[in-house]
Amino acid sequence: MLGYVPEIYPDELIYSWASRYYSHNGYPGYRQALDDLLVERNGKIHFEFTGHFNSEAMKAISSMYSYRELILQHTMFPYYARFDTLERKQKALACLMAGDCKVDSLMQFPNDKKHHHLKYCPLCSGEDRQKYGEAYFHRSHQIRGIGSCAKHRCNLIETPVRLYGNASPRLHVPEDIIPQDAETIISSELEAKFSSYLTELFNAPINFANSIPIGEYLVSRLEGSKYQPPTKSCVYCKAMADDINHFYGQECVLKHQIQKIITGERIDFSQIARIGFFLGIATNEVTNPIIIHKSNPYIPRPRKPQNHNVRSGMRKENWAAIDTASLPLVKKTIEDIKHGHDRPGRISSRIICKAMGWPSKRLNYLPLCKAEVMSNMDPIEEYWAKEVIWAYKKAKQASGQKRVYWREIRNLTNIRREQFLSTFPLLTNFTSPEIAEEIQGL
Ligand SMILES: [Zn+2]
Repeated sequence: MLGYVPEIYPDELIYSWASRYYSHNGYPGYRQALDDLLVERNGKIHFEFTGHFNSEAMKAISSMYSYRELILQHTMFPYYARFDTLERKQKALACLMAGDCKVDSLMQFPNDKKHHHLKYCPLCSGEDRQKYGEAYFHRSHQIRGIGSCAKHRCNLIETPVRLYGNASPRLHVPEDIIPQDAETIISSELEAKFSSYLTELFNAPINFANSIPIGEYLVSRLEGSKYQPPTKSCVYCKAMADDINHFYGQECVLKHQIQKIITGERIDFSQIARIGFFLGIATNEVTNPIIIHKSNPYIPRPRKPQNHNVRSGMRKENWAAIDTASLPLVKKTIEDIKHGHDRPGRISSRIICKAMGWPSKRLNYLPLCKAEVMSNMDPIEEYWAKEVIWAYKKAKQASGQKRVYWREIRNLTNIRREQFLSTFPLLTNFTSPEIAEEIQGL
């Protein structure tokens, strides 16, 4: 039978509330408390999410809160689901509301290999004790990567309670875990500002209507910056990662992670927040992105449906790996086209894709290769100049030193008279002044 049900405090984790339920009712052990709250015997309440509450507990909870609001306001759902696709967000919320806590298959969890502990703010817990007579675990203190309390700008403190998937179902009572006399350390300016940013982003209402992928939005915000060439053909992920890590004074994002974020493969809340804060994008723009392109849009690779039940070996086409692996061959192909033949070749995306045996849009998925191609694309006049010189030499050879006519150049190159004239100032860049003068005399 259900005992006394305490109220849920602002920003409190459901797990914290259940722990207080256990301590307030004088159960001999947490197991008995859980048995009164949950459907399954041996069930548990997820640190960051919820539990499969029985009808009695649900009735008590819904007298305080709609269950949907409870998930949105008292679990870490907004952290893990915020940047996911609309469909997956809706599905995850529906499953959580139905008491399904197999969260690994519902949401993307960063595989950062760091240990995460329940955290608290020494000043918030002091205030909570004054106001409510007890401390509790705030969910906004559990944001991964947050170091400072957004309200007090002091460092958050880790408890010994480690958060991991198969931790014991034990209910750790906040009042027992959070000490009364913890030292308050003021956070650095940057840490405090970034933590406020994280908290704002975390607490903003989730938009269940906006389907713009965050990666695409971030790329649109790079237009005109040093992280994109004027052609917007790629993003300089390495330069961006270097600058971001320098800005924060620690390695918080890697090149390939940025690559995955902009292509939509990765939706890590903390890293997206790092990028947004670094680029100076307001939190309400990150949570409700609108893309305004100045001109031709960048085309990110389409997001593939992912099977989150199978964690490895499913990525058939790992573009980042293909990109890196193909780069040497792309470079060689460019060299061959430019210098390997008698007749000059012009580098273009189409020509390179053809030479590599790729579909014509493949370079859009391979930023390194694309950048290499773009940097080797000559201005068209330079290409014409090289063509004209080649044609002139060929015609002269064929005619055995007799006079070369403009008509012959045109027949060999298909170049028009005005295009031919536009090459004149460039000819000496690619041939001797004598030959340039002979060509200009045609
Ligand atoms: Zn605080």
